[in-house]
Amino acid sequence: MRRTSSLFIALLVAAPLGAQTPAPSAGLSVHWEELTGPDFINAIKRAQNTCLLPIGILEKHGPHLPIGNDLLNVRYAALHAAQQEYAVVFPEYFYGQIFEAKHQPGTIAYSRGLQLELLQETTNEMARNGCKKIIIVNGHGGNPNLLQFFAQSQLESPHDYVVYVQGLARSGPGEPKHKSDRAGDQHAGESETSMSMIARPDLVHLDRATQESGADLARLKLPDGLYTGIWWYSRFPNHYAGEGGVASRELGEFEAKTWIDAIVQSIKAVKADQESLRLQNEFYERSKHPLDTPQ
Ligand SMILES: [Zn+2]
Repeated sequence: MRRTSSLFIALLVAAPLGAQTPAPSAGLSVHWEELTGPDFINAIKRAQNTCLLPIGILEKHGPHLPIGNDLLNVRYAALHAAQQEYAVVFPEYFYGQIFEAKHQPGTIAYSRGLQLELLQETTNEMARNGCKKIIIVNGHGGNPNLLQFFAQSQLESPHDYVVYVQGLARSGPGEPKHKSDRAGDQHAGESETSMSMIARPDLVHLDRATQESGADLARLKLPDGLYTGIWWYSRFPNHYAGEGGVASRELGEFEAKTWIDAIVQSIKAVKADQESLRLQNEFYERSKHPLDTPQ
């Protein structure tokens, strides 16, 4: 060990000074909070103004997974993707929709208005700092409606940036066979637990997965297409859906790779997308005087 370090120091001393100074864009962290101010400018340039906002949640995940499971998993996927296709990744963000787990320990459920306001102020501040293309990477099953409404509501008033939403994308062709019923495998079940075994294996307590039931109680008898907010609680009051105990690293590796690949493809597509902002601007302009819009 000592020999290696003295050799390393000798090499450093022998190297010309310029060789030790990294190129402006080389070795830049993808973590927003790890960059210096001057490096941040280079990072935004290297990212072609593309930034990721991974969004998780704090909620119970069965008897065997950590409360921050979705935050930990989505950050694992987003950070790995950004390292493959450079983008600046916003720090930990877990202010999503989780009213349905308020009866369980550790849930942080901010009010409806604040969720939207905080998202808007966060994306506004990101854009003010050069993130003109923001991909919200969702890691929580209770967020899609909130995030799509948020993205849609960007048309309410002009913005000089575009919000994109990347959904959960852990399954795909070639997926290893599942051991549990896929219809019931929703929250802290086989799939999600497998992903957690890759992102944070130290926090997965597989031996506790059968301490509670993740069965669907199906207590509401309503027609398909008729929605009500208590639907989730009516089915899964333990806030656990599926069988986490049959999770495997094999499935987790597939899921992690599939999710990371999907985010990489989205970052590439967003970098290449020059149409969304142009169309948004055209739309904002026309929306000021709709009677002049060509019919
Ligand atoms: Zn989850």
